[in-house]
Amino acid sequence: MTTEVQKARHEALAQRAAAALKKSGFDAVYAPDREKAAEIVMGFIGPGAQVGFGGSMTLAQMGLPEKVRAAGAVVLDHNEPGLTPERKGEIRRLQLLCDVFLTGTNAVTLDGGLVNVDGNGNRTNAMTFGPRKVVVVAGANKVRRDLGEALARIEGCAAPLNNRRLRTGNPCASTGICSDCSAETRICRVYSILKRRPSQTDITVVLVGEALGF
Ligand code: SF4
Repeated sequence: MTTEVQKARHEALAQRAAAALKKSGFDAVYAPDREKAAEIVMGFIGPGAQVGFGGSMTLAQMGLPEKVRAAGAVVLDHNEPGLTPERKGEIRRLQLLCDVFLTGTNAVTLDGGLVNVDGNGNRTNAMTFGPRKVVVVAGANKVRRDLGEALARIEGCAAPLNNRRLRTGNPCASTGICSDCSAETRICRVYSILKRRPSQTDITVVLVGEALGF
């Protein structure tokens, strides 16, 4: 249960991160809770739009795939059940040129950056160039002081939890912390740091005053 004190901390971190991202050239908005955040995201989605999903627990917790479908848009989600490996690959390619790409982020830094680690690079690539619009949603639990703290968050929290969720069998899935493994199934392969908004990409980051995702 989130206490008043925790809520106040989350609000302060999310607001500070939004201000820092603005200084880095991102469009950044603060939302007090996931409902308001979803409303902001849906403001970018119209009927018939091709909407890519970057594989995010945050977006799932906000019910965004269902909301996007209900708005008459086309969902491009490679994590939908029952897809063949070939279709997953095709959807990942389609995400790179979609109308709106929705994603979470592994970390947001208080010096105005976005830090992510990917296995395939479809998410990090789509955040950087290709889609006409990118919307990133980040809970206050993703906010860290700087790049070092962001990478520590990924190695000590986000990546181990994702390994467990994906049942990779990699060491961190059982130990709970990264050991910089050499496994064939290693999911940490592409390290992306957006220090400023990529020049030709229209990115809005929605900072939410509560904890969301891993
Ligand atoms: S590098 Fe390997 S051990 Fe480290 S978080 Fe990634 S998959 Fe886990």
